[in-house]
Amino acid sequence: MRDRVVAANWKMNLCRADGLALVDAILGQLSHLKGVHVILGVPFPFLGDVAERTAGVSHVHLAAQNCHQEEKGAYTGEVSAAMLKSFGVEYVILGHSERREFFGEDDALILKKMRAAVAHGIRPIYCCGERQEQREAGRHFEVVGQQLNESVMQLQPAELNGLIIAYEPVWAIGTGLTASPEQAEEMHRFINDRLKARFGSAANDIPLLYGGSVKPSNADELFSQPHIDGGLIGGASLVAEDFLAILNA
Ligand code: PEP
Repeated sequence: MRDRVVAANWKMNLCRADGLALVDAILGQLSHLKGVHVILGVPFPFLGDVAERTAGVSHVHLAAQNCHQEEKGAYTGEVSAAMLKSFGVEYVILGHSERREFFGEDDALILKKMRAAVAHGIRPIYCCGERQEQREAGRHFEVVGQQLNESVMQLQPAELNGLIIAYEPVWAIGTGLTASPEQAEEMHRFINDRLKARFGSAANDIPLLYGGSVKPSNADELFSQPHIDGGLIGGASLVAEDFLAILNA
């Protein structure tokens, strides 16, 4: 059985004092936790401070929420994978539905970003998932399959570099609606099958996270599904007590 992976996605929330207090509250309660990798996906301005706090804390890792696809240059306001690496970032969340919806990111671009991350030894957390109308039309497997085809499936086996995939049905993100354990499990099994067909046994090393209104009350049931290795947590990661309860699920 693989270790559990639980990643926080703070999105664009919290200012300095509250953000660092949250990190301290979480780190202060982790000593007893075994077999769980905790990934803190924080906004860019927090990376340096959080890297200092998490350095040397075993099983706690730092993630950015985006990176630019180019190595460097005239891209005002953007942050490269090399810059992230220089701050000790180990993971980057890519292809989140909010990046797709509000910033027009598509899988061709996300593939470039994954390659930029991998080139610097940063592990991508690739997000995929269908919208509500696509699920209602029974197209969820087709949609997720196509997202994967245009991104993850284009990677060479040597580029997998610790890839993590998060299945995040868009209708469940930040809405309070959660996929049922059965709905999440059948999609995770589908993704695992597709990965096995493309990458063979290396697929078994790709953790599959569920994201979409995970909370202390539903984490246990979701995480006990055979193909669910953990979660990507938005809203509940902003409250130390809730995030810690999910880590303990
Ligand atoms: C997310 O932002 O990736 C997410 C899953 O958010 P929430 O847990 O709030 O639904």
